[in-house]
Amino acid sequence: MTKVIYLDSHSTTPVDPLVLEEMMPYFTKSFGNSSSIDHKEGANAAEAVSRSREKIAQVINTDADNILFTSGATESNNLALKGVMRKNKSKGNHLITCVTEHPSVLDTVRTLEQEGVKVTYLPVDKHGSVNLQDITNAITDETIIVSIMAANNEVGTLVDLEGIGKIAHEHGVLFHTDAAQALGHVPLDVQRMNIDMMSFSAHKIYGPKGVGGLYIRNISPKVKISSIIDGGGQEKNLRSGTLNVPGIVGLAKALEIAHKSMETENLQYNEWTKYMLEKFSEETGELNGHPSKRLSHNLNVKFDGIESKAIINSISSELAISASSACTTRTVEASHVLLAMGRTENEAHSSIRLGCGRFNTTEEITTATNIIIDNIHILNQIRS
Ligand code: PMP
Repeated sequence: MTKVIYLDSHSTTPVDPLVLEEMMPYFTKSFGNSSSIDHKEGANAAEAVSRSREKIAQVINTDADNILFTSGATESNNLALKGVMRKNKSKGNHLITCVTEHPSVLDTVRTLEQEGVKVTYLPVDKHGSVNLQDITNAITDETIIVSIMAANNEVGTLVDLEGIGKIAHEHGVLFHTDAAQALGHVPLDVQRMNIDMMSFSAHKIYGPKGVGGLYIRNISPKVKISSIIDGGGQEKNLRSGTLNVPGIVGLAKALEIAHKSMETENLQYNEWTKYMLEKFSEETGELNGHPSKRLSHNLNVKFDGIESKAIINSISSELAISASSACTTRTVEASHVLLAMGRTENEAHSSIRLGCGRFNTTEEITTATNIIIDNIHILNQIRS
């Protein structure tokens, strides 16, 4: 059986063998509960968690004390937004976010709306970018927080985090960013960017699934937040539950590797995505997303009159890629991101998302490009 070429890195990434190696001892040898520090097993686990916190904090330029471990970016987004809005009810009840956010932000915000929170959903332009003036205009005396994702998971558009952070702080408003797709792929500095809370996840950077974190600033301004899970009071009472020690060790190792290799990898990804886009452009392919302010490993392309599902199905034995649409078992909805960028329903259904990764080769990229183009020719022939 031929190996399937994996180009769906925005969905998830394989665990890097170096990450797995680092995690292994914490499954069997140093298996202790990091809260049970009265014996060696527990103390070893606590030490590993503490080292991991330090490593992550260093990469994003903060203190270890500001890093909280969760089950992933979904939980971090829930905690950040529900935790802050519920805790600061007496101060205000307005939240600003964007229409192209991940469902873990949009659905969280919808729950908050049912609790009486007022939400402003900012639009995006044709590249998927938010206008900073729109943020300034949306801030009121009631605004508690602005939540804008660092990089979009469908089209890879990067936002001006520093610019948004500056506006938020000038108005005394908190700034949260969902960095699930950005951390480890672009440099992030929470001090310089005035970020007060940042969600992230291990499985987008060659770490394990089911583990992530939330950075929460604890000085000037100190973020006031309440927990959304009750229990044993781990993580400073903000996230009860026994810590996933091997996962946390894996997350830190994955970030350490990603941080070191980011620059070289991005140069390679730029070359690959440029090559693919050039080839696809000869076949009516058109970029969805920002031409330059985009994750290097992202390529989202619309093809004239081709059903993305048809392409994906016809190549699935050779290539793993995604449609730019949210699929459920029964319905296929057009991507809310592409629609917000001005694409029609048909155009949104004619788009595919490619995400290159650490373990791809140039040969795979060439082969994948040829497979997609060959299948577009076949589908076009069937149509005509
Ligand atoms: N936010 C974004 C932008 C994402 O891409 C994802 C994962 N698809 C999430 C949040 C959720 O992350 P997790 O799988 O760690 O819960």
